[in-house]
Amino acid sequence: MDNPFLALGLDERLVAAVGDLGYEKPSEVQQKAIPHLLQDQSDLVSLAQTGTGKTAAFSLPLLQHINTSKKHIQGVILSPTRELALQIAEDIKSFSKYLPKIKVATVYGGASIENQYRDIKRNPQIVVATPGRLKDMLKRRMIKLEEIKVCILDEADEMLNMGFKDDLDFILDRCGEERNTWLFSATMPPEVSRIAKEYMSNPFEITCGRKNEGSNNVAHQYVVVQNFNRYQALKRLIDFQQDMFGVIFCRTRHETQDVAAKLINDGYNAGPLHGDLSQAQRDTVMGHFRKRNIQFLVATDVAARGIDVNDITHVIHYKLPEQIESYTHRSGRTGRAGKSGISISITTSSERKKIKAIERVIKKEFDKVLLPSSKDVANNKLMQVVNKLKNQEINEELISKYTSYLSEEFDAVSKEELLQKFVTMEMEIFLKGVSDDDINHKGQRNDERGSGKGDRKRFYISIGEKDGFKSWTELKDVLRETTGLGKDDFTHVDVMKTFSFFTVASRNEKLVFDKFNGSTWKGRNVSVELTKEKKSRPGRRKSPERRRRRRN
Ligand code: AMP
Repeated sequence: MDNPFLALGLDERLVAAVGDLGYEKPSEVQQKAIPHLLQDQSDLVSLAQTGTGKTAAFSLPLLQHINTSKKHIQGVILSPTRELALQIAEDIKSFSKYLPKIKVATVYGGASIENQYRDIKRNPQIVVATPGRLKDMLKRRMIKLEEIKVCILDEADEMLNMGFKDDLDFILDRCGEERNTWLFSATMPPEVSRIAKEYMSNPFEITCGRKNEGSNNVAHQYVVVQNFNRYQALKRLIDFQQDMFGVIFCRTRHETQDVAAKLINDGYNAGPLHGDLSQAQRDTVMGHFRKRNIQFLVATDVAARGIDVNDITHVIHYKLPEQIESYTHRSGRTGRAGKSGISISITTSSERKKIKAIERVIKKEFDKVLLPSSKDVANNKLMQVVNKLKNQEINEELISKYTSYLSEEFDAVSKEELLQKFVTMEMEIFLKGVSDDDINHKGQRNDERGSGKGDRKRFYISIGEKDGFKSWTELKDVLRETTGLGKDDFTHVDVMKTFSFFTVASRNEKLVFDKFNGSTWKGRNVSVELTKEKKSRPGRRKSPERRRRRRN
């Protein structure tokens, strides 16, 4: 019994199929879960990140338990997204290629329920489903789960994060009593523990890495910049690491679209992935990313759930996630299948606490790294070009007609001079339009407002209520979007009938003038002017509600 998969107790036909996929030895989660799930049909809770081989860890034992002489559904697998569900179904098809008569159906939202019902009527033994659609089908009595042997919850924490709590309860309540439940989750928030307690009896526990811990293959780093330098920081990072293949996480759909558009405009090979795109558009972007036709996928947390692309070298957090748990999922997109990866966060100095909180959750320390200067980036690019030049093979056929012309043109130019000219030419291109600012933020707190220190400027702006601003928050959103500054950068935003006021740090004075003067809002010219500074307004600051809102 030389084959380590055979030693786990797997059927030879399954072993042959994983052999065809190039798996040589079981991963940690497979090693721990498979023997148990094959012999002892008990419940299981497994803490494993994506990319650890958990799909095979549950699919192989499930396939071995299937009785193909029976017609009913025997295994149901719940997954947070359609993409992941389709991937699991594909994997099961590959694993079962030497098993006769295995049928898998996939049901998910956003596609015809009638077609999926037709697939269910063909008596699959295994159904892979997203919770919302499965609940719908159960309600409409299109599917029965009374006789299933196993219910698998894949990425349980993600399903709960995405608001599928009620759907999961509904589904689990309708799965036959005799079934076993196998739960896989990257993190163990209380809601996942509740499911384990409520729907399982004495589950066998497997932990690959510690609870909530990030993958060991991932290095966690962060840079600190001022909020308006985030995009510059992103460019420096990706320029410096030329062979990066990465996912860039943003917080909102709008920000995702904006960052992707800027990158594309600046000549990078990037594509957006967010909920405002149709399913077909998302499939196209993912298809290109998988084939590496897209080098940078710019994504929201929700849209990127279940991304199963291997060899992602970097995850960049353009902004840290709102929820700390999401960090584990984001960073788990790299460092898959035993490879190493880097998860790097672009932060502002006020986010230090958040980094600390994430460190506590993932039980790993972040390294603070410095962004390269634009000269460093240019040097790096030059080295790459020089290397390319050095290793370039000569294609006689291609260049023969130019040889004599080139000899004549460069007759009087020495090799040294030629190289100097070449390097100057390239460096001038690389340095064109880039300022040599060191954009690493050096210690001075971004937010001087709280301490009462710091030089601030009060601005008048020529738009107000009559331009559609119903509240100061609406104007603040526009101020932020137009300048690229953060929510803490603007204070004392006061909307009047025809104009408004706001306060920013003096260092942003030029930025505000540049961005607003000469701009228009709904067809009206906008102008800004400095006013005399007004530090506080009686009445408003005293309100606790107001103070709370300001903090948010
Ligand atoms: P998963 O965590 O199931 O999404 O798997 C992550 C990746 O690892 C997939 O591309 C699998 O094909 C691959 N994989 C899973 N198990 C093994 C194994 N034992 N050896 C090599 N690759 C594997």
